[in-house]
Amino acid sequence: MKKLMDSQGATLPPHVLIFPVPIQGHVNSMLMLAELLCLSGLDITFMISDFSHSRLLKHTTVGSRFKQYPGFRFQAITDGLPDDHPRVGEKVMDILPSTKNTTAPLFKQMMVEKNFFSSETRRPISCIIADGSLPFAGDFAEEKGIPLIYFRTISACSFWAYFSIPELIEAGEISVEGISMDQLVKSMPGMEGFLRFRDLPSFCRVNDINEPNLQLMKSVTRQTTRAQAAIFNTFEDLEGSIVSHIRNHIPKIFTIGPNHSHLKSRLAEKKADKSILSGSFWAEDRSCLNWLNAQPPKSVIYVSFGSITVVTREQLLEFWHGLVNSGQRFLWVMRPDSIVGEDGKNQTPVELEEGTKARGYMVGWAPQEEVLNHEAVGGFLTHSGWNSTLESIVVGVPMICWPYFGDQTTNSRFVSEVWKIGLDIKDTCDRDIIEKAVRELMEERKDEFLERSENMAKLARKAVSEGGSSYSNLNALIDYIKTMIT
Ligand code: UDP
Repeated sequence: MKKLMDSQGATLPPHVLIFPVPIQGHVNSMLMLAELLCLSGLDITFMISDFSHSRLLKHTTVGSRFKQYPGFRFQAITDGLPDDHPRVGEKVMDILPSTKNTTAPLFKQMMVEKNFFSSETRRPISCIIADGSLPFAGDFAEEKGIPLIYFRTISACSFWAYFSIPELIEAGEISVEGISMDQLVKSMPGMEGFLRFRDLPSFCRVNDINEPNLQLMKSVTRQTTRAQAAIFNTFEDLEGSIVSHIRNHIPKIFTIGPNHSHLKSRLAEKKADKSILSGSFWAEDRSCLNWLNAQPPKSVIYVSFGSITVVTREQLLEFWHGLVNSGQRFLWVMRPDSIVGEDGKNQTPVELEEGTKARGYMVGWAPQEEVLNHEAVGGFLTHSGWNSTLESIVVGVPMICWPYFGDQTTNSRFVSEVWKIGLDIKDTCDRDIIEKAVRELMEERKDEFLERSENMAKLARKAVSEGGSSYSNLNALIDYIKTMIT
């Protein structure tokens, strides 16, 4: 490509198009990637759905935050779903076909009509960093000869599990009737001896290999290999051994995470305000920080199941009884759209809100990163979403994992069996089990879990500090992107 100049004759920087799947966890981590690249002077066009964009502008200061980077632009586009689509629970999967059918042709048209988002001060897109779950971005990049990098918002361990689906099918390890949930998986290098059928991504729990979500995840994951490189929001000390297996298929992998912590570290280096970027789609209820201020150190278990999980009223009551019976203090995030009754309607049990007041506090959405960093928090009851897991790891907070779906079932096994920084209670929802797990994490084995979690936190912080693996890999990524315009 040509060296384009601005009016002063300076070479224009590379112009990167970043395109996340328009759901909370994906937008969050890719916004952090965008800011990390902005800090290095790259121009960014950030494709975002109208729906996510309006929620971000309503609930965060993202708009003003990115004003400090003149090279940054949002570009809104539809996600193809009606505004009143719930975008939670298993229905969130609708977003993949809708982006393929509706967003993809519009994206193509927009890119061509807007001359690849070029202007007098911006070169045409020099590289696309697309969410690995958006194959159409890869089709377009290939068609137009634009370098493509896929960004994976999930852990390397769950990516590797998705990637291995064809081998697992071949070996008869999934989609086999009557298979035991506790059977150990044998045909996935790096996971021998501890990964059970139960711990595979939830889409593997089918009797028929033609089940649409299994097929979708299989093909979406495999097509990652066509990109010139891939970025993972993880770090070498955490998942390096699994990443080495993936490198046999995708040789150029940049592990640059945890993104939020990396961003903090780079902002501190530039002596900029290092408050963390909030990409929340909901209004954060900061009153919980005042409540936390009044609690003793490491006494509170934070309970949150992320932005997509839905629970039934019965499950909610099991959690509530388990938490109350454990005798521990708890801070619980209950999104207004997270409770679904048999009739499909939201039902917030009033008795639950009332009964929580003695030892607990409830909010609709929390400033999670700050909450986990609060000294009063000593444990995290989580759905094992990858952002939540990383946020907990960075601040050394042990976890109780109650995975809901997708990659979470694999993440939770790694938390409990590989990193040993928490407990995994997947596939149960019983007040006695919850009570026991909370007591174990917060009392009986507290010191052991805290010690291991703090050690892992140190490794995470080292990774994103100067000379650390993620730090060096981000520099290498930026250099690599720069080679695309020479
Ligand atoms: N989150 C938040 N406040 C909450 C609950 C969640 O800010 O009350 C953020 C959390 O910090 C994380 C994201 O929402 O960055 C959830 O992403 P994750 O990958 O953990 O799970 P998902 O929502 O994709 O299932």
